Amino acid sequence: MCAINDDGSACKFEARGEAMTNKPIGDKEGYCLFHSRDIAWKQASGFEKALMDFVRQQIEDKSSKPVDLSGAVLDESVNKLWPLDFGTKKLQLDNCEIHAPVLFEGVECEGALSFKHTIISRKVLIKIRY
Ligand SMILES: [Zn+2]
Repeated sequence: MCAINDDGSACKFEARGEAMTNKPIGDKEGYCLFHSRDIAWKQASGFEKALMDFVRQQIEDKSSKPVDLSGAVLDESVNKLWPLDFGTKKLQLDNCEIHAPVLFEGVECEGALSFKHTIISRKVLIKIRY
C-alpha cells in the first residue's frame, strides 16, 4: 500500500487505477507510482502508461466526477494529457508537484482546469490559440 496514507489503506490512485492493472508496486520509500517523487523509478516502472490509463478510465467514467490527479507527483508525461479530449470533465491537478517543463498548447477544456497549490518546478509555456 502507498505510504501516503498513515493507516495503511490504499491511496486513491491504488484504489482507482493501479489496482485495476494488478501492479502493487511502490518505490523504496513505499509510495505508489503516482505519489512517488523518485522520477527515475517512476519512469522505469511505466508511469506514463499508468497515468494515461488512469486518466482515460476517468474520462470514460460517465459520472460527473472530475478527472482527479490531485496530489500526484508528475513528470514530463503530464504533457501527454493535453491532446486528450476531456469533454465536459473537470481536470483537477490540485496539490500536484510537476517536475518537468510544462507546455500548454492547444489545451481545450470545456469543463475546468484546476491547479490550486500546484508547484511546477521547471519552465512553463502557455500558448493560447483563438
Ligand atoms: Zn499513492
